[in-house]
Amino acid sequence: MVKAIVGANWGDEGKGKLTDLFAETSDVVIRFQGGANAGHTIINPYGKFALHQLPSGVFYPHITNIIANGVALNIPALQKEIDALLSAGVPRPRLLISDRTQIVMPYHILFDQVEEARLSERQYGSTKSGIAPFYADKFAKIGFQVSELYDDGVLAAKLEQVLPLKNTLLRHLYHQPELKAGELLSDLLAWREAIRPYVADTFAFLSQAQRKGKKILLEGQLGALKDPDFGIYPYVTSSSTLAGYGSVGAGLAPGSITEIVAVVKAYSSAVGAGAFVSEIFGDQAHELRQRGGDAGEYGATTGRPRRMGWFDAVATRYGCHVQGATAVALTAIDVLSYLDVIPVCVGYEIEGQVVRDFPVTTRLNKARPVLEMLPGWKTDIRGIREFGHLPAEAQAYVRFVEREIGVPVSYVSNGPRRDEIILR
Ligand code: GDP
Repeated sequence: MVKAIVGANWGDEGKGKLTDLFAETSDVVIRFQGGANAGHTIINPYGKFALHQLPSGVFYPHITNIIANGVALNIPALQKEIDALLSAGVPRPRLLISDRTQIVMPYHILFDQVEEARLSERQYGSTKSGIAPFYADKFAKIGFQVSELYDDGVLAAKLEQVLPLKNTLLRHLYHQPELKAGELLSDLLAWREAIRPYVADTFAFLSQAQRKGKKILLEGQLGALKDPDFGIYPYVTSSSTLAGYGSVGAGLAPGSITEIVAVVKAYSSAVGAGAFVSEIFGDQAHELRQRGGDAGEYGATTGRPRRMGWFDAVATRYGCHVQGATAVALTAIDVLSYLDVIPVCVGYEIEGQVVRDFPVTTRLNKARPVLEMLPGWKTDIRGIREFGHLPAEAQAYVRFVEREIGVPVSYVSNGPRRDEIILR
């Protein structure tokens, strides 16, 4: 049985908490895309952790955690994450890294930085973790697979093939010092020892786990609207954020992913550039960002203040649809408790017409939000465990969201702690 937890918005929906919750009853937790460029925030008895690459099952000794082939593996950053866990008293996690996973090279991070600098005010708002250069190289077939680290001949030949390409750009386009093969090679040799205990044929492991009926959890990073195909291209990430990609990025049969929980936030937030139709500004945004302080409205990886907006039914319905959501977890509804009335975006006005279907980016850039006002509840709702005990207005808000997106809201999260959740 495979369950996926994925974002229906722009990321930061609170997937970390949900994955942590579902991880407990899983046997295997898998990261299948993305890399160190985003993070889940998890609060548990060991403390508060920002996990970037480690799957959320690392706090449970019974779980096998997999960094699968679809991930952009940053080895030094992974080492830091493991060390942070160990120094907080977490037992060494059971971790497997696919031998087919590719490695973020030092120059991927460098290229991400110098390219954003070159673009100046036209930049994408990259986290500068090397993700775009990494995936570009993977598909240009000049990436480094984990398995290749253990073959000295392949490594040397590959560096010889790749470095002239990189150095030409560095020297002539970016006016940077050239890379030296010897330095890169010594990094790679150190890295291969660091991950050696974890490297495995995870495809074979997963095939066997499935045959044995193990419970497998796929953990998505970012959200549907950051998907390179279905998101707000080009202001997207460079690997697919969709549950469907879980099958490729982890190595599972497409039909095996039977449960897809899309995480939706009760309002909107986003980091980076790109159209954000229901965005709010100034004091209004500042207040929502502060109220969402618990919801970490400062990027988990970058610390950047997030862009804020009202709940966007157009984008969220589409996000759930492209995810193939079978259930929704609505998070951070407690953050809205201060509002007298709660605006929600129910349509986009584009060139004089109101649309309810999420458009391509060129049209999205022209969209203006059509807002509807819902009554607020003006009372603290944290700690409530039963849906029926929520104020009538909060119940109505949840039902409104459910009607708009057309997927059952099976979980309502009303606080950052793992027990602050209502099952419907
Ligand atoms: P992810 O990338 O989707 O995992 O999202 P993050 O973990 O970066 O951001 C979610 C933030 O929201 C974290 O700081 C969580 O502790 C917090 N959070 C999750 N659910 C809730 C909720 O229901 N209410 C509040 N106030 N905060 C929440």
